Amino acid sequence: MEKKILKKSVYDSSLSEMEEFCVSRGFKKYNAFQAMRWLYFYGRQDFDKMTDIPKKLREILPLNFSTEFPEILNTMDEEDLGGRSRKYLLRLKDGETVESVFINYDKRKTLCVSSQAGCRMGCAFCETSFPGLVRNLSSGEIISQVLLIRKHSGEDITNIVFMGMGEPLDNISAVNRSIAIMTEPNFMGIAPRKITISTCGLLDKLEELENKKCKLAISLNASNDRTRTSLMPVNRKYGLEDIASFTKKKPPSIHNKITLEYVMIKGLNDSKADLKELIRMFSPARVKFNLIPLNKSGSTERMEGMDRPENKVIADFKEKLSRAGFAVTVRFSKAQSINGGCGQLKARQKREGNQYLL
Ligand code: SAH
Repeated sequence: MEKKILKKSVYDSSLSEMEEFCVSRGFKKYNAFQAMRWLYFYGRQDFDKMTDIPKKLREILPLNFSTEFPEILNTMDEEDLGGRSRKYLLRLKDGETVESVFINYDKRKTLCVSSQAGCRMGCAFCETSFPGLVRNLSSGEIISQVLLIRKHSGEDITNIVFMGMGEPLDNISAVNRSIAIMTEPNFMGIAPRKITISTCGLLDKLEELENKKCKLAISLNASNDRTRTSLMPVNRKYGLEDIASFTKKKPPSIHNKITLEYVMIKGLNDSKADLKELIRMFSPARVKFNLIPLNKSGSTERMEGMDRPENKVIADFKEKLSRAGFAVTVRFSKAQSINGGCGQLKARQKREGNQYLL
């Protein structure tokens, strides 16, 4: 009986692993670099077209490695003032599904990538947390979201945000490996300052983040520990004071201003007392705030009773934080109607069946 060779995804290999492979088969170390330039810089999936590497190696590579991307199951678009967003539901090799969102605003072409299928952080307002953690994505599965959507959209991706499904610091080794390829000037060439890691606040894990020049966003979402713990169980381990002192330490590792993401929920974290406490905790203002009105489009039972505040309340929150010296942005509706919140397209597909399938 013919033995079936299980092929590894080529996107899971680091440069040094590919070099090792090439050398072990009698080829030059440099051939690995050439092949990876074809894969990442030019987005080529066909080894045979990599004309500057030895013919024999071009034959051996596809016997050992696959260059398959995830499959696009579904897309949804949104246009708003000044830009377009497209959400992709992707199927991975084992059938698990994850989401990526391409946000096309002028010269900035941002891809929001997923780092896990599911998530074990249990945040009450986040759809991804409901099934719990299914599994970590491999570095190749993270990278191939970028390659696939770059190819599908025909646009160069200029910025990456790890704000899709999952907690990136809970899958730090794959995230590190994917960032090494994204930032390598000869491969994807994305500057580290154009990559943002968004975390629910796993501060200890940050030490393991290899590229210290990436930007950092922390999901704060409350002004006191009682509310934050009720929304984000992780707060029991890393509380608000830990986060506040972390931002004040000006961690030597993270060079840029830290962004605090704040999902605004009516009556829960949008009061004057919340504002006062936030200003007290984070002054002098070294952080930026990103206010995110609660997205309910994929609403589940646990979100019942939670609503986004009136626009006026959000505008007022923004103005008062600005006046206290903070830089503030409001993530108004970008991708709201396309179920831009984490995991919401996937959940909707489950509820409503496959009518959006391409
Ligand atoms: N696990 C990481 C990254 C994924 S979530 C983190 O916690 O930061 C990315 C952002 O989306 C977080 O700031 C999170 O608070 C926010 N988010 C999750 N569900 C949301 C919802 N239903 N409405 C609005 N924002 C949401």
